[in-house]
Amino acid sequence: MSRPSRSWICSPTVSSESRERAAVEDRAQRFLDDLRDWLAIPSIGADPEHHGEVARSALWLADELRRDGWPTVEVWSGDSQGGSYLPAVHACWPAADPEAPTVLVYGHHDVQPVDPLEAWEHAPFEPTVVGEQLYGRGASDDKGQMLMHLLGMQAHLAATGADAPAVTVKLLVEGEEESGSPHIAALLADHTDDLACDAIVVTDTGMFSRDTPSMCTGMRGMADAEVVFRGADMDLHSGQFGGAVPNPVTELARMLAALHDDDGRVAIPGFYDDVREPAAAERAAFARLPFDGKAWLSGPAGGSRALHGEAGWSTVERLWVRPTAEVNGISGGYAGPGHKTIVPAEAVAKVSFRLVPDQQPVPVQRAFAEFVAAHTPEGIHAEVHFTGSGVSPCASDVDHPVTESVRQALQAALGTEVLYSREGGSGPEAAIAEALGAPLAFLGVGLPDDRIHAPNEKVELPLLHRGAEAAALLWRLLGERRDELKPGP
Ligand SMILES: [Zn+2]
Repeated sequence: MSRPSRSWICSPTVSSESRERAAVEDRAQRFLDDLRDWLAIPSIGADPEHHGEVARSALWLADELRRDGWPTVEVWSGDSQGGSYLPAVHACWPAADPEAPTVLVYGHHDVQPVDPLEAWEHAPFEPTVVGEQLYGRGASDDKGQMLMHLLGMQAHLAATGADAPAVTVKLLVEGEEESGSPHIAALLADHTDDLACDAIVVTDTGMFSRDTPSMCTGMRGMADAEVVFRGADMDLHSGQFGGAVPNPVTELARMLAALHDDDGRVAIPGFYDDVREPAAAERAAFARLPFDGKAWLSGPAGGSRALHGEAGWSTVERLWVRPTAEVNGISGGYAGPGHKTIVPAEAVAKVSFRLVPDQQPVPVQRAFAEFVAAHTPEGIHAEVHFTGSGVSPCASDVDHPVTESVRQALQAALGTEVLYSREGGSGPEAAIAEALGAPLAFLGVGLPDDRIHAPNEKVELPLLHRGAEAAALLWRLLGERRDELKPGP
């Protein structure tokens, strides 16, 4: 007899009529009441005037966790160097068995600013239910999805009848994610032992669509730069000097135009050296997503007029698994009313790169600096400035037991096949995975039309319930696969 196929190995051991679902439904009203309380706290991290509210949001969550019975609950707001940061909440619920694997759930409780306020149909911090949707800043990103894990834990315990989870579950709910997680490295360094885990479950992402659920398998990284090209000490008369000295705007434009070849590939030498192609299973799943290019151009892409990008890759692949170089802005010389005939003294461009595994920001910065030097003609003085050390990309291994289990739990909770997708944006996930030396998987139920970071943010309550059910099932499934998760002796 042949070996059982993969799909046989991965077939769900849970039915859609699960006890977890019943436990979630029993608690749905309290969940909604609690989420509305939390969403009413305007924890806008970007605004110093709201930092007291970020602290209040952390304390609210800590109280909620204690009320649910989490044995360890802490609020962290300072590092060992004496620096302070917006409060993060940590909790731990150990498995009864000390040998069980440990999973860390990462998310955040700070929210984006709300302007323009007049564009909101319901006040952003007066959470409002309309049908099955809950409106409010943070409903989807990320308070709704974090509170989903508290409900998931309650449902897991109720469904198993145990007073401790099947795996040790830890939470890290950051307060600075929307500000770019500036203190995450210090926080991780100070709390490496508290956060030690065998796997990380990130809950701050979305699915392809309501009708085509998917699980995120990665996020891109980022590096950005400012380039200054200088010619003369001052703007020069174009009649007296033009044609006889280099023009910094022209030379900068020439350098920027050389960033891509005719196939849309980034032309910086070595740029693709570390790029890891996605797994065949991921590409096959991406190809099955019902991506409608025309609708995407006229909708999310803001009336863009054509699809464009690296040859040989689909649009979703260009967004998710291919690295990019973008000119974010360019300035120099005179572009005001009328005309001013000059050879400008200076030109400036901002350039950013989205990176994919296994590219790292610092080598990309270095390669870009060399590229600029190679494209700086005689008579131009070039400077390249970088903002910090960038953000690393991250991706799940789709064959890892945690990734497989998240997918299986989502499929059981949603009652349908779950494909793969990725996020084109960047976050602190790679830094967390690297600091803790653990693999990561994504359990997120946001939708592209949740309007995160925009007015009228909302979340689909039924999806939060299914997500809580998936989390509850996940702890059970990981308990069953414990031997695959713990490193061998
Ligand atoms: Zn978020």
